[in-house]
Amino acid sequence: MSASDRPRPPSVERVLAVARRAAGDRDPDAVLAVAREVVDGERARLASGGAPRDVAALGAATVATLEAFDGSVGAGRVPDAGPTRVINATGVIIHTNLGRAAWPRAASEAARRAAEGSILLELDRATGRRGVRYRAAEDHLVALTGAEDALVVTNNAAAVALAVGLTGRGGGVAVSRGELVEIGGGVRIPEILRRAGVRLVEVGTTNRTRVADFEAALADPKARIRIVLRVHPSNFVQAGFVESPDLAALAEVTHRHGAIVIDDLGSGALLPTERVGLAHEPTPRERLAAGADLVTFSGDKLVGGPQAGLIVGRHDPIARLRKDPLARAMRPDKTILAAVAATLALYRAGRAMTEIPVWRMLATPVDDLRRRSEALLVTLSEGSAEGIELESTVGGGSVPGETLPSRGVALGAAAGRAATDLLARLRAGDPCVIARIERDRVVIDLRTVPPEDDAALAGAVACALARRPADDR
Ligand SMILES: *Cc1c(COP(=O)(O)O)cnc(C)c1O
Repeated sequence: MSASDRPRPPSVERVLAVARRAAGDRDPDAVLAVAREVVDGERARLASGGAPRDVAALGAATVATLEAFDGSVGAGRVPDAGPTRVINATGVIIHTNLGRAAWPRAASEAARRAAEGSILLELDRATGRRGVRYRAAEDHLVALTGAEDALVVTNNAAAVALAVGLTGRGGGVAVSRGELVEIGGGVRIPEILRRAGVRLVEVGTTNRTRVADFEAALADPKARIRIVLRVHPSNFVQAGFVESPDLAALAEVTHRHGAIVIDDLGSGALLPTERVGLAHEPTPRERLAAGADLVTFSGDKLVGGPQAGLIVGRHDPIARLRKDPLARAMRPDKTILAAVAATLALYRAGRAMTEIPVWRMLATPVDDLRRRSEALLVTLSEGSAEGIELESTVGGGSVPGETLPSRGVALGAAAGRAATDLLARLRAGDPCVIARIERDRVVIDLRTVPPEDDAALAGAVACALARRPADDR
């Protein structure tokens, strides 16, 4: 077919005339822009051989697109302007690719209130003058860790980059060769240091670094070491012939040479991980007590709140960080500050284990998960699905190598291709379900699914199973 006898879409003016009738009090320019997109889309469809649609259909498509943008189509639907609703059925509690920690309700409420109105961000209530920046989150950190002061920045990578800047011009940062790690997403500690403009002094070996190695570097006047940086090897474990220095001994030597210790904990648990049956994850309080001058950790790993970089430690270095012009570029906005404060307040209220989703998921008894997996199997009434025992992981660079017993369901018969197809159909569904493959079968791990999502999960799984292609049966 030549271009001249190919069917042409109706004009934008005609589509617009239909759409405007149903578009309500929307801005006419916005309606016009969407009508143009719909007509352009129709032209492309016709060019690839699609059947022509009439003016009424294209007008309705225009209105449907407009309604999807503001969420006014269907009651309670998440607007297209927002992110797709996702159920994390991977069993990885702090899943970096799924946005890490789900916030506690108190945090999202606090963020919403701050977002929709004004807060006393930098205004002193008593004097009415400009005051110190809103520091409820920082006051909670001081109370929770025993630190002299605290500072909240946008994320922990920023916290580390900011903190190592305390070396000043020409100063060196000593790091054990066993801790020059890649955090994830290709982000590497040596590169963060280089970009922060500080000189890295490598100490010790990959598997063994002693206090004496640091002492030799600190005593070398040419190295001009101002900071000893410890980095939690978040996402891997070293075993066998390994040694790393005791923090208290290292801090003592470091201070004797006029330098400070910065301890990048990554996850930084504020509750003992032993309580949920996991190995010990270092806490900021114990690291400060052992002599670290500054401890940095994430807001959205084991703390279980919004993305933020939490810095706790001694008065003097924190005061210097607060004054650093770079700190301005790493400043969280009012909603994050409010949400971090609300999250930390739950720890002080003694409600973290029950109110913070990360801790609730960690603490869920396996019997609860078994009951829920049995209920899911009943609603699926699918012959090939069966309940199975699983191992969940914490993720987010926390307690590496540790797992928690979990329960879930395995879907479909064992088959490589069919399993990846089913995984894709689960991702394409509504809500989008992210599962994983284990021994060639798709598995749904219930530890990371909030119980209130069980019904939505069951619906999405049933849908994905029903839509299996014919050659898949
Ligand atoms: C995760 C992690 C970081 C980065 O923290 P973000 O909050 O993702 O910026 C830095 N250091 C360690 C050891 C980590 O585990």
